[in-house]
Amino acid sequence: MSASPPIARIEPLTTARALRGPFDYRIPEGFGAVEVGTLIAVPFAGRDVLGVVTGLAETTDVPAEKLAEPRERVDGPGVPASLVALAGWIADEYCSTPARALGLVLPPGAGRAIRPRVRTRRALVAELTDAGRAALADPEARVTAKQRAVLRNLAAGPLPAADSGTDHGSLRRLAERGLLVVERRELRRRPVHSAIGARHDGVPPPLTAEQEAALERIVAALGAPRPGEPGAPSDADRRFLLHGVTGSGKTEVYLQAAAAALEAGRDVIVLVPEIALAPQTVARFQARFGDTVAVLHSQLGQGERYDEWMRLRRGEARICVGPRSAVFAPLADVGLVIVDEEHEPAYKHEGDPRYDARRVAARRATDAGAVLLSGSATPRPESVRALRRLRIGRRVDGRAMPAVEILDMRDARHPLHPVTREALGDVRRAGQKAIVLVNRRGWSNFLSCRSCGRVWECPQCDVALVLHRGRHAVSCHHCGHAERVPSRCPDCGSVSLARHGAGTERIEQELLEAIGDERFPVFRLDADTTATKGGIVRALERFDAAPAGVLVGTQIVAKGHDFPDVTLAVVLDADQTLRFPDFRAEERTFALVAQLAGRAGRGPHGEGRVLVQTLAVDAPSIVAAAAHDSDGFLAGELARRELLRYPPFASLIRVVCSAEEATDAHAAAAAVASRLGEVPGAQVLGPAPLFRLRGRERSQLVVKATERRAAVRAVAAAVDAVARAPEGRRASLSADVDPQ
Ligand code: ADP
Ligand code: ZN
Ligand code: ZN
Repeated sequence: MSASPPIARIEPLTTARALRGPFDYRIPEGFGAVEVGTLIAVPFAGRDVLGVVTGLAETTDVPAEKLAEPRERVDGPGVPASLVALAGWIADEYCSTPARALGLVLPPGAGRAIRPRVRTRRALVAELTDAGRAALADPEARVTAKQRAVLRNLAAGPLPAADSGTDHGSLRRLAERGLLVVERRELRRRPVHSAIGARHDGVPPPLTAEQEAALERIVAALGAPRPGEPGAPSDADRRFLLHGVTGSGKTEVYLQAAAAALEAGRDVIVLVPEIALAPQTVARFQARFGDTVAVLHSQLGQGERYDEWMRLRRGEARICVGPRSAVFAPLADVGLVIVDEEHEPAYKHEGDPRYDARRVAARRATDAGAVLLSGSATPRPESVRALRRLRIGRRVDGRAMPAVEILDMRDARHPLHPVTREALGDVRRAGQKAIVLVNRRGWSNFLSCRSCGRVWECPQCDVALVLHRGRHAVSCHHCGHAERVPSRCPDCGSVSLARHGAGTERIEQELLEAIGDERFPVFRLDADTTATKGGIVRALERFDAAPAGVLVGTQIVAKGHDFPDVTLAVVLDADQTLRFPDFRAEERTFALVAQLAGRAGRGPHGEGRVLVQTLAVDAPSIVAAAAHDSDGFLAGELARRELLRYPPFASLIRVVCSAEEATDAHAAAAAVASRLGEVPGAQVLGPAPLFRLRGRERSQLVVKATERRAAVRAVAAAVDAVARAPEGRRASLSADVDPQ
């Protein structure tokens, strides 16, 4: 083995934007092996900082007397070199810094600490021997009832001695008789997941013709020569969009594609939008692939996350399922990257680096010569244009899509249309289930004074406060500010206050009064009812387990669940998402209605029925969703975006400057704009004021660019320059590429 080159390029993990590495360090003799991805403590700016080796060199321009030596290697595994490269790409692509991007790919617990906080855990473990199993199976065996109970506890697998149900003395006696072994071992912290998908037993069903055709294309790409080998397909030929209606069996295609990748000796990443909403997907992968599956997400304890990460790093687990951060799974040879429900906004990370996991997935697939498989019933126009489309037009059971009725609410006096009330009554009589989607949590959207017109607003943000009756509060959905429910107007003294609009809390109450009882319970699912860890899964499990009832909730209720007894799905204010001043408003509204429709009629009770209450009865997105016409919608939407130069025909970069004073925020944004004057192919919109948020005044610029790379570089340079210039002194600046 040759010695490492003497110079290591190391990126110290600091958050300071100005201190950007990498910096060169001399590796002293006898330091031990150093490679790209090794974690090392280095002296930096007067203290010891955790750093990542990003390169190695024989020589450096740094004069010898200035060249420092690193302190020590951090034990445990480093980061795979491919992920160090991916982090570098993310830093450039999303106007961030290499140090921040490297923070995404570190082993769990490493953070900025010199010493990772988690370690492999070792403990005394007890495990049954064959003789122990035989004794357990033999009712005549010479063991006491207490000993038998211990053996039974261990039947499912080894346990820490402390959890075996007895003391060390008794364990030792059983060990002496050869019924079990007790030894110090590495203990794996296993995350436990919901059994909500337990309907699935892990046996692959025969595929429908459309599933088969899609799988064949994917498998062919998996088997094709790798990039660089003769006959290798282009990147474009390895990127697929599985566009299948809800219930068309996309997940089954993912499962069989994953099996094919494993068989070819390659690893698999499966991204889901939010782990809490994907218990069924996780359960199906685990049922099919067992321990080969590792799950990585932030709701795991740090020890669990570390152990799952290590199983991937060592190659013991070869499929990683998780939310956007799972795109950084430390797998050695990724052959397939799956992005489920690719239309979901949750794939965009809202902290620095503001990466989009869908683009990172595509990049990682390209780097690894892997196949990218994105799937959705309501794909984004971007993906339709960029990926090879595999279409599944029919549901697995051959059943028609549910009938969708649009209900005009323009003259309505009550939040539930008469047709909706009647339909809910029918479901109750039949002992079936319904889902009701309300776009807003809380009781009412805002409060106003009937005599002077005062509207209750957040003192920190320029938005109306929402009434939450259950909590006796009005609260801000942006910053969390909450006040007691007012009894009179502080401006004019009037006690006559009006509540406008209906949120989940009020609809829950309406339904309880109208149709709820023990036989037909009303469940509510929104951020208020599921604030605790695991709350969403528990709520979904309760609804799943109930023989009948109605689930009321925010958009969470429309996402991917497979409840066979749901025969009615209702959305109460379908145009609410349309009123957002965002070029994605149409896309979001279409997806919401189409996804909700996908929740109805998945079981044995026929097609199901979908009701769409709306003020915008002619909106193209709503009409197309009601007609299950996703091709028509996509064609129209692509034409509209081309005309207006929106993605995918241009890239958007948003710059937000915030400050205590509006003038400072504006000045910073104007300074960025003036520095962006000459970017080819870029159009700068703004600065324009944004509503005040958390007490900060804000001003924003939007850059529309046809030359993405050049524009991102220019924006990053302008933002960095203004942050250091007088105009930026009192402001904080952030750049967001592909904002949501
Ligand atoms: P999607 O993700 O497209 O909405 P799913 O993958 O959840 O659809 O499939 C819907 C249901 O159909 C699931 O219960 C799944 O197990 C089942 N299923 C999928 N493919 C088949 C098949 N070829 N034959 C029978 N059942 C299938
Ligand atoms: Zn008043
Ligand atoms: Zn607020």
